[in-house]
Amino acid sequence: MKKSIALVAHDNRKSDLSEWVKHNREKLSGHRFFATGTTGSLIKEVLDNVVCLKSGPLGGDQQLGAMIAEGKIDMMIFFWDPMTSQPHDVDVKALLRMSVLYNIPTASNRSTADFLITSTLFSDETYVPLRKDYSTYLNRHHGQ
Ligand code: PGA
Repeated sequence: MKKSIALVAHDNRKSDLSEWVKHNREKLSGHRFFATGTTGSLIKEVLDNVVCLKSGPLGGDQQLGAMIAEGKIDMMIFFWDPMTSQPHDVDVKALLRMSVLYNIPTASNRSTADFLITSTLFSDETYVPLRKDYSTYLNRHHGQ
């Protein structure tokens, strides 16, 4: 089954992500990709089936976060830059929060990305990540 994979890389890490995608082109082909604008334009040179969203600082991270909340993303490779502050840092944080909240497998570095795509679960069509039940939280805070 095709997985929907989010791809994002900050500027200093775009070459790392491109290189990783090239190295794993065969394994990745056949899946569907949703990328922030500039990252997507690079990935398109290597993979088919890439949807380019807005550039990260212009709302792309938020678009991906919304897609995660809507159940449209199965996995995320997000190479964020640990050495440079970002103008859209709050969006970065929000996107990473969504991936934890919805239990989306997320890789922030190459070794984790390698582990994800070599896991037997990567090709398991039946695997659905468990969602934590937040109904108690909703009852407490919104009287529902
Ligand atoms: P970009 O966005 O792919 O458009 O550069 C990435 C980001 O900074 O979130």
